[in-house]
Amino acid sequence: MNLGVLGFALLPLAPPRSAGGWTRGLPPPRGRPSPSRTCRLAGRSHRSGRLTWSWSASMAERQRLATSAGVPDAEDGALGYGEETVSALVRQGWLEAASAAGTGADEAADMETQLKRIAGTGDEAGRAHFVRSSAASTRAVHSGERVKGGKKARATLDALATPIVQSSTFTFRTTRECIDYNQGAYASFEYGRYGNPTTRAVEEKLIDLETGGQAALATATDALVSASGMNAVTTMLLALFTAAEMPSAVAADEGGCIITTTDCYRRTRQFMEEMLPRLRVRVEVIDPSDVQRLEGVVRGIRASRNPRIARQRVVFFSESPTNPLLRLVDVPRVVSVCQAHEVLVCVDSTFATPINHRPLELGADLVLHSGTKYLAGHNDVMAGALIGRDDLVAQVRRLHGVLGGVIDPHASYLLLRGLKTLPLRVEAHNRNARALAERLAADPRVYRVHWPALRQHPDHELGRRLAEQHGQFGRSGTEFGGVLSFELRGRLRQRDAPEQPYGRETFERVGRFIDALRLPYIGPSLGGTESLVEQVCVMGYFDQPLWKRKSLGITCGLIRFACGVEDAADIVVDVEQALDRAYAEGDGNGAWVEEQDAVERSV
Ligand code: PLP
Repeated sequence: MNLGVLGFALLPLAPPRSAGGWTRGLPPPRGRPSPSRTCRLAGRSHRSGRLTWSWSASMAERQRLATSAGVPDAEDGALGYGEETVSALVRQGWLEAASAAGTGADEAADMETQLKRIAGTGDEAGRAHFVRSSAASTRAVHSGERVKGGKKARATLDALATPIVQSSTFTFRTTRECIDYNQGAYASFEYGRYGNPTTRAVEEKLIDLETGGQAALATATDALVSASGMNAVTTMLLALFTAAEMPSAVAADEGGCIITTTDCYRRTRQFMEEMLPRLRVRVEVIDPSDVQRLEGVVRGIRASRNPRIARQRVVFFSESPTNPLLRLVDVPRVVSVCQAHEVLVCVDSTFATPINHRPLELGADLVLHSGTKYLAGHNDVMAGALIGRDDLVAQVRRLHGVLGGVIDPHASYLLLRGLKTLPLRVEAHNRNARALAERLAADPRVYRVHWPALRQHPDHELGRRLAEQHGQFGRSGTEFGGVLSFELRGRLRQRDAPEQPYGRETFERVGRFIDALRLPYIGPSLGGTESLVEQVCVMGYFDQPLWKRKSLGITCGLIRFACGVEDAADIVVDVEQALDRAYAEGDGNGAWVEEQDAVERSV
């Protein structure tokens, strides 16, 4: 994200909050800043990912202003502040967006400044001499690495591929530098749990992708990449429901409310249902398209006589499309209801990717991804990502630094590399899912296809509307990523034979179909180059009792097919031959279904 086009002016207002409210990296303000002295945001440092700003005032004026604003001045006229710091300054009235100014030249100047600083501070010559004349064991540890800067630093910046900064710790040449860093005046990193340059590059790329290149939206947006999608879900929810400004909750339902949807990744729901009530958070589950019910729940909360409930944090959280039934959420309508009642909207956009759907553009507060899927895209990385309102991401980042679910820099690099081809891959995923869905919908052996562009899908009209009115899911509303699910019939349709979606015949038929496939691997996950297929009841839901699966619509016939980027015709031909073989007679694994039936009867 290039923020070098923004300008800021210092305001004469004292910050409204106490010094205790200032974040790490930002010193408490002393006195009042002088009025209307311009201060330009120079851009984002290549090396550190931090924002830098430079004063346009003279050295003397600058020093006076810096002192009165309580921020440290830099020898070279450029100050490096973290994004959080700059956002906090803007929020608290010390800085104001003023004018469009600044060019890439600012960023280059900042880079030079940083390089000079690296090479020119500390007793580098003394250190080099000391290492060179030390014992072999000391030289083995330090030689070639102890003295930083020069050609190595320059080449690191010039490398085309973003380097994997495989370091748990970031060091300081002097105590002054350490103090500057803590005060936000030296742009760098400190410890791998709080940030890493390779990871920051991913975060910046995701900001741009999720905000569709809209500069104004991107400016107020931040991103946090972490170790897995579930880490992103759990850290986000814990952070949102334990935010400092919330009253300490005592009774059930007083800790907040999460409104979520019926179809949902199983572990996300498990966390909500098993963990959030322990924080006294109420969990409400609604149909993904039931905005009326959402409004009813929210109105009920805000009208509560209990002020702790009436003013509590409420979060709407849903996938769109959902996993595994590909239901859609009407994000613009959800946003209009939620904004009217101060409810946060978070969309798990894993299935859609920012190529097909950008909820932030529609007013959502946060977007979440299992980066393990399309973002990384090669079935070889675990990752999670959260993108959205910078103040909310800052809340989550603080807790993330405590809980510690950080992504490894090498995984960040793979994610960064995957993201470069995201649009190309998603185009292929979209194409393949469309071809397969249309073929399956025309096959009498297939009972139902869950893919929103088909007329039979409950959210078909919504998908079309989101495409036509909001430019989401492709121009014609047929771009939903590579996943579709479908249900096979137990036997070929006969007038007098009822469908038995939970019956032995259906279960066996699906097993035979999956085992006959030649292209996709049998396994969980989605969004990678290789196609993957699963019979949902024996993969993610194997340990779930029949009554639970029935309540979620996970039939024995349900198959989730995650198209990879192979050729569409090959995928279709393979599915056709597998269907033919599945409906030829043969033995199946049906005993499991009978066991489940027996268990249910005995309960
Ligand atoms: N969200 C959705 C929609 C998912 O499908 C998954 C995993 O399948 C997750 C979140 C969790 O992501 P991860 O497996 O990267 O932890």
